[in-house]
Amino acid sequence: MATDLLEKDELVTEGGLNFVEQEIKKDLEAGKNGGRLSTRFPPEPNGYLHIGHAKAFIMDFGAAEKFGGTCNLRFDDTNPQKEDTEYVESIKRDIHWLGFDWEDRLYYASDYFPQLFDFAVRLIKEGKAYVDEQTSEEIAAQKGTPTQPGTNSPYRDRPVEENLDLFMRMNAGEFPEGSMVLRAKIDMANSNMHFRDPVIYRIINKPHWRTGTKWKVYPMYDFAHGQSDFFEGVTHSICTLEFVPHRPLYEYFVNLLADESYCPRQIEFNRLNLTYTVMSKRKLLQLVQEGLVSGWDDPRMPTLCGLRRRGYTPDAIKNFVKKIGYTKYEALNHIELLEHAVREDLNDHATRVSAVVNPVKLVITNYPEGQTETVTMDNNPEHPEEGTHEMPFSRELWIERDDFMENPPKKFFRLSPDKEVRLKGAYIIKCTGVKKNEDGEIEEIYAEYDPETKSGMPQADRKVKGTLHWVSVPTAVKVEVRDYDRLFNVEDPSSAEGDFRDLLNPDSLVVRENVMVEPWLAANAKPGDHFQFQRIGYYTVDPDTTPDHLVFNKTIGLRDSFAKALKS
Ligand code: ATP
Ligand code: MG
Repeated sequence: MATDLLEKDELVTEGGLNFVEQEIKKDLEAGKNGGRLSTRFPPEPNGYLHIGHAKAFIMDFGAAEKFGGTCNLRFDDTNPQKEDTEYVESIKRDIHWLGFDWEDRLYYASDYFPQLFDFAVRLIKEGKAYVDEQTSEEIAAQKGTPTQPGTNSPYRDRPVEENLDLFMRMNAGEFPEGSMVLRAKIDMANSNMHFRDPVIYRIINKPHWRTGTKWKVYPMYDFAHGQSDFFEGVTHSICTLEFVPHRPLYEYFVNLLADESYCPRQIEFNRLNLTYTVMSKRKLLQLVQEGLVSGWDDPRMPTLCGLRRRGYTPDAIKNFVKKIGYTKYEALNHIELLEHAVREDLNDHATRVSAVVNPVKLVITNYPEGQTETVTMDNNPEHPEEGTHEMPFSRELWIERDDFMENPPKKFFRLSPDKEVRLKGAYIIKCTGVKKNEDGEIEEIYAEYDPETKSGMPQADRKVKGTLHWVSVPTAVKVEVRDYDRLFNVEDPSSAEGDFRDLLNPDSLVVRENVMVEPWLAANAKPGDHFQFQRIGYYTVDPDTTPDHLVFNKTIGLRDSFAKALKS
């Protein structure tokens, strides 16, 4: 089951600091590292950032901002097999989109390859590392289990000179990939499996996108990360809970480098997991590569570029992250809470417009043919200062097919025979009949209007139960709308059994080619703009839009069942 919001706020103090920030504050007050705060966000450029990464870098950059420190962006580019500059550029764009900036502090773990290599050589010379020629299977078999100690490698006690010679030749390209590795010589019986002589360097023959063919050996994550923090002067290395068991090894290596004046420290918080969503980069890459979505920025993806294209806003994402908070235990958050944050923000910012997504024609039989007038519509009733725009009204209008019922149930307050509704911003009308085609489908609806009921007229305040949105037929512009639903059908696709691709929702994208919008919207819509289609939902203009063919993405419907649940 999904869990949400910090039920007990024992992890948040009076000052609104989360537990990581409290730790930082304590360190600063104690004068550690000369009272300096430096954090970093360390993405591996092997995929696009998703909303989980946003939770991480909002913490990294946010804490630095809060305490007057700095935050570095460091690409963790230690594996040339999976990494690409396309990812580097997208990661920068997405961090900027959320309003954060690393200024001149853009680093790459590959910047530290020389220092890391020297450090490895130092360990070899001190008898703290050795070259192992066993296969990865043999090494794994000797690791033991958490309750059983491992066994020593037959290469563990090689002389220093031999280790040095082999390591140099590994890096000179004399040996094939997988034939040997460099291991730290720590303790094969340690209760922490990460201490059982971890592999710290491996041979990779693929050129690195930054360092080319200079290196043939590449450091493993555990050997690169803490040391990179140290070389960069990072004081607080904030990461997710799966790194808790790595922390002792992190400390083991940085302690070999640090002195009393400065030592980086790792602190872990819970990952973001969302219902109906997969967050694993491997799975997201699979969705893209297999064409199961249209790309990394498909609006159904949890990637930041996907959410942006969907119409989610930076403030909505930040507010959501603030609501769920940072804790020390794993949780699964309801996607409805994210959607709630999106509605809250768009309600404040999106311009109200009229669009009919499933149109049927309404003819006002007592309105003169050929006549038009304009009515005035609020751009945003939450912000009167944002003004109004004009919308043409005429004898023929598009209304939603769902807003009419021939034989309505009792509480149907929209249009039905002999019933009255108000047309938003205009007149009250009364339905007088319908015309059907041969299949019995309604082709046109007929009504008469009451000329006294428009704003400024004597009957302007006359009340009727329903109000419908509409678009005038002669000036309507036909656009494409892409309706999105959850990408997955099950609440927790990551822990469900079987292949996650079998859990995809086949109806997650519905394209509507026949949506009618008011001319003011068509004239003003630019890619990335947010609108509220009155009574329906929030929409954003897709980058596929051209002047002749407008494309909108549905961001989210108006109805928010979660808001009610939160209040009760
Ligand atoms: P992988 O390491 O499997 O490629 P990753 O998602 O951990 O995937 P990184 O590029 O290593 O990718 O992530 C950068 C940072 O983002 C890490 O510090 C990681 O802890 C954090 N992070 C990744 N996923 C989440 C998540 N779902 N919630 C919060 N933080 C996350
Ligand atoms: Mg990772």
